[in-house]
Amino acid sequence: MSGSALNRIVLFSDFDGTLVPIRKDPKKVVLSVRVRNVLKRLVRNIPVAIISGRSLAFLKKAIAIPEIILAGNHGLEVKMGLDRYRHPKAVACEKTIKLFTDCLKREFRKTAGILIEEKGLTATFHYRLVSESQRELACNAFYDRFKNFSENSDGDLLKVRAGKMSLEILPNINWGKKEAILWILERYKKRFPQRKVIPIYSGDDETDRASLSLMKKIGISIFVGREIAPKIAATFFLSSQTQYIALLRQLQLEIEGQ
Ligand SMILES: [Mg+2]
Repeated sequence: MSGSALNRIVLFSDFDGTLVPIRKDPKKVVLSVRVRNVLKRLVRNIPVAIISGRSLAFLKKAIAIPEIILAGNHGLEVKMGLDRYRHPKAVACEKTIKLFTDCLKREFRKTAGILIEEKGLTATFHYRLVSESQRELACNAFYDRFKNFSENSDGDLLKVRAGKMSLEILPNINWGKKEAILWILERYKKRFPQRKVIPIYSGDDETDRASLSLMKKIGISIFVGREIAPKIAATFFLSSQTQYIALLRQLQLEIEGQ
């Protein structure tokens, strides 16, 4: 890429499995000093946005670089400079998410290895720590509970999506990481109408499918890690998170060296 092209990059990145390795306990994930340093230096020259299923509050603390644009809860809440966005329909669903999460906590309190991550606008049911032979059982029990909840309440308000060893509980609306990326890009273009941008998105999971596919059309998309089926549409495939960090570091050096 030529020097001027590098400055047109708007860098979007997923968090878990992309910028940080996946840990057994999601609470224990930390951004390494090295990666934070690369991001800090990148954001001096190009816009950097992190789009994640984690809550915005978690991302703010974990990343701790105020200049970075953050989209949490699968894009349902965004922080871009002084601009804040929370999807109004998701906000309206927050109580229902809480009700269902409470119900899951009761149901699974005796199941070893289940972690229920409450994130406000969404929640995650993690089963990575459940013994392998019990995982299917745990997922089936989850789906039974979800079906039951949906039938007995305003269950249409919620939907479930599978992630890596996890099930995401989301408001049933058509807004995810992809829509948040488009929202951010639109704001950015309004602010700098003369600038031609090259958006890049990187992600590692099923939850990145739509964003990677969009970015393949309008910019560059990078799938990180072991490929998943059905095959995800991406411009490039990197086999590990380490390779992705090396690429970011290289990008940072190229931009600074212009
Ligand atoms: Mg991920």
